[in-house]
Amino acid sequence: MLNVLLIGNGQCGNRILDAVNKHAMNRGSNVKEAGGGISKYFSKHNYQSNVQTIAINTAINDLKEMKFTKAKDRIHIKNLHGVGANRNIGKEVFETHKAHILRAIEERGSFDVAFIVTSASGGTGSSFTPPLVEEIKKSHNFPVYALVILPFREEGTLYLQNAAFMLKELREGPCDGIILADNQYLKSIGGNVQEAYDGINSMIAKRLLFLLDSLDSEMMMVTDLGDFKTVMSGGAGLATVGYFKAENEMPIRTVIQNSLSPRGLLFSTDVYKEGGRAMIILKGDKKYLSMEEISNEVEKLSGAIGHVFKGVIVENGSLPEALCVLTLNSAEELESLYEGAIQAIGMEKDKKDRVKKKKEMESSFMTIDGMDPEY
Ligand code: GDP
Repeated sequence: MLNVLLIGNGQCGNRILDAVNKHAMNRGSNVKEAGGGISKYFSKHNYQSNVQTIAINTAINDLKEMKFTKAKDRIHIKNLHGVGANRNIGKEVFETHKAHILRAIEERGSFDVAFIVTSASGGTGSSFTPPLVEEIKKSHNFPVYALVILPFREEGTLYLQNAAFMLKELREGPCDGIILADNQYLKSIGGNVQEAYDGINSMIAKRLLFLLDSLDSEMMMVTDLGDFKTVMSGGAGLATVGYFKAENEMPIRTVIQNSLSPRGLLFSTDVYKEGGRAMIILKGDKKYLSMEEISNEVEKLSGAIGHVFKGVIVENGSLPEALCVLTLNSAEELESLYEGAIQAIGMEKDKKDRVKKKKEMESSFMTIDGMDPEY
């Protein structure tokens, strides 16, 4: 059985972690919703592996908002006024409190793999995640992956520049791979912001659960953590995930194609142009899992991008579903985010210069303090 560490950092990370715990619970037999924090129902978390979840935040209210995550799994890092969206403050707070966080991780035992979920752009998650990966890697050999949520582009200059610096730090550090999900790309889910967040979080949570299952499953044809590591080490250190579940009878080739199409992906990319390596896992009743169709689709993809691992999970009576982990050799969408970030940094600098000029003007006014006009 795999030992998995799943950390949610900051508000976005906490909420997605809570969504994972919710879905892990809802697929169990005998399920009762745990809203209202009735802890006895938490024992119904139905993970295939030994999954330890930890939520970390400087904002106590974000932690209190969680409904499906045990209280003992929520770590509050006390900092009087939070960190705002200031990553410099966030990094200082992490440095001060890192022993507390690392102790909480050590207490959970040993792990085969860790995933850290966070937004790229806020304060806490964005500033805690790169140094947390670094600290974990200092004393452990298991791979650590970051699942990073990119901001809506209209959320403002501070979030954009945070995202750019955070991703740069993660890529330059010892993180074993970055899985991207993009709020901007997924916002077509619609509804108000909260509904969009809930929809996006649920999408991400389902994919993550499927992935964890497939790394620790007795499949007909096996993929495992070793394959996942190989896939994630390809490309430019960046990856995304595609997924599709049929709602009615459908050939498996269409399910695979949908999982790789814009409607299935968490990040905007042309799979066949930007893909590096991939791992495709198919699940469903045996009658849907035509090996010929699966092989044809996998060959199409491997012909375009290189190596593709495939795994098949037979689940009697279930409609077919497909999950694809795809590393990227390039990411045009990320390049345009960086262009936006450069403009954002320029705008923030201009604003600072203007404030400086205003201060100089104020000091000119002060030079006549105590004087009177002479006529
Ligand atoms: P932190 O608590 O300081 O780490 O900051 P947040 O996690 O709130 O980061 C702000 C970014 O996260 C913004 O880009 C938000 O759009 C995004 N965000 C906040 N909450 C959620 C959520 O529940 N789901 C998703 N997908 N994004 C979120």
